[in-house]
Amino acid sequence: MICKQWSYVNRQIIEKLVYIQIARRFSQQDCSSRWESIVGLEIHAQINAQSKLFSGAGTKFMVPPNSQVAVFDAALPGTLPVLNRRCVEAAICTAFALSCKINKRSFFDRKHYYYADLPTGYQITQNRVPIAVNGKLRFPINITDKIPVQKTVNVKQIQIEQDSGKSLHDEDNRQTLVDLNRAGVGLMEIVTEPNLHNGQEAAAMVRELQLILQTINTCDAKMEEGSFRVDANISVNLPGQPFGTRAEVKNIGSIRNVKNAIDYEIKRQISLLEKGKKVVADTRFFDVKTGKTVSMRIKETNLDYRFMPEPNLPPLVVYDDETIGESENPSNAININDIERAVPELPEAKRLRFQEQYEISWRSAVVLVSEQELAIFFEKVMSTENNLETKRVADWLINEVLTILNQSEVSILECSLSPNDFVDVVQSVSDGVVSADIAKLLLSLKVEGDSRSVNHIIEENNWKQITDRSALEELCREVIQENPEPVKIYRAGNKAAINRLMGIIQKKTGRKIQAQLAITILRELLDKDT
Ligand code: ADP
Ligand code: MG
Repeated sequence: MICKQWSYVNRQIIEKLVYIQIARRFSQQDCSSRWESIVGLEIHAQINAQSKLFSGAGTKFMVPPNSQVAVFDAALPGTLPVLNRRCVEAAICTAFALSCKINKRSFFDRKHYYYADLPTGYQITQNRVPIAVNGKLRFPINITDKIPVQKTVNVKQIQIEQDSGKSLHDEDNRQTLVDLNRAGVGLMEIVTEPNLHNGQEAAAMVRELQLILQTINTCDAKMEEGSFRVDANISVNLPGQPFGTRAEVKNIGSIRNVKNAIDYEIKRQISLLEKGKKVVADTRFFDVKTGKTVSMRIKETNLDYRFMPEPNLPPLVVYDDETIGESENPSNAININDIERAVPELPEAKRLRFQEQYEISWRSAVVLVSEQELAIFFEKVMSTENNLETKRVADWLINEVLTILNQSEVSILECSLSPNDFVDVVQSVSDGVVSADIAKLLLSLKVEGDSRSVNHIIEENNWKQITDRSALEELCREVIQENPEPVKIYRAGNKAAINRLMGIIQKKTGRKIQAQLAITILRELLDKDT
């Protein structure tokens, strides 16, 4: 009866606390929820191709400066562009992955501006009609929730264009050096509509796009190497009002900074407007050290790029199953349906399949699919012969293997832990052969390159768990006798003192005991022999 009353009171207290928390959250939102924030992204993704968009020069990263420059990339007079088929196919594949409409006829244009690392004085891009428009990208956010929370952003367009070179500013000698290795490398500029609302959404979208491009292998999407660069456009407005003036934060270097830069910028704009000031349409950069965005220049809204059709390239024409016959040279023409048929399983489909096929939670599916290699490893494990529970496999992979890998900074397919080793470890902990602690140790050893078999390591170290109840009881008695201090504290009512005794037992046995059983026995002994 007393018990029931207590739980009733407890429930009331908890309900009240939850209510207070919700109320607080609402009031926190209140001051800023007067404002709506709008975000649209422009992403430059370097196309995975052996050679540049219009020349045969290589595209490797980290090679000596100016070692990958064809005469065309250096803008020598009389040189002509030759369109790289692979770049077009990659852009089309990306367009399918983002459910875009593909323009069968698109055009190249010159966008003029002067900069030292742009030797022609113009960039070849797709201004009038880009290769693809009107796409959609669905992405998961907030993966801690049990229920999948997904959002969709509309993709305005994908355009194919050239990258520029790199200027290296040598402050000491007051000179600028130019490296043209990157000049002319093929890019896909992926532009979203302004339908994102905050840093978290934008970061989640960017992560999904990264994963998609890696899955279809059209871009390696390494932000730290500059092969995937994010520009964020941000504005705020009052509900019912038109969009506000937008500022653009250029070249954000990591997913975390996508979130931080956008959230900072939203706050900055709201605070300006609340003070009655105006937002200036400027181009900014995110200073990682201060966590603030800083103005670089007023946006060149009126800058005249003197766009003109690129005279040295014909329209880019592609075909489909129905029209391929109309091509002058069908065996050489690009059939977009061929590319569509070769699009591999995309992350979203993979998550759904994992959930259904392996009966794992949404959250586990999101984590497993979040790294390509992890998903491959998981499926390799699932295809080995074993009678492990899938949930167990997923949990050990996500909670333990990932932690070990993060600490040792190796990838799961690079390290020497094989799917079979992993199964052996999880099997031995499931069968009660080793304790969970020892199992983690085994995984670490295998990740670090121990070449012995899992069973060998267990044998050689004598790591088998002590499961014999009478042996454990013996051990507990011993520890109780040898440690009167914590025993006294426990018996005086401080039950937490049992942890100290457990610690001693763990140490004595090299963590080889079944912790739950040991605790039960300890408790029995402590409560009995008072
Ligand atoms: P521009 O012609 O200046 O390049 P676009 O219409 O191509 O402008 O848009 C560029 C980017 O800016 C897109 O990603 C788009 O989603 C985003 N954008 C447009 N208007 C806004 C706004 N008011 N707030 C935030 N982002 C915006
Ligand atoms: Mg634009």
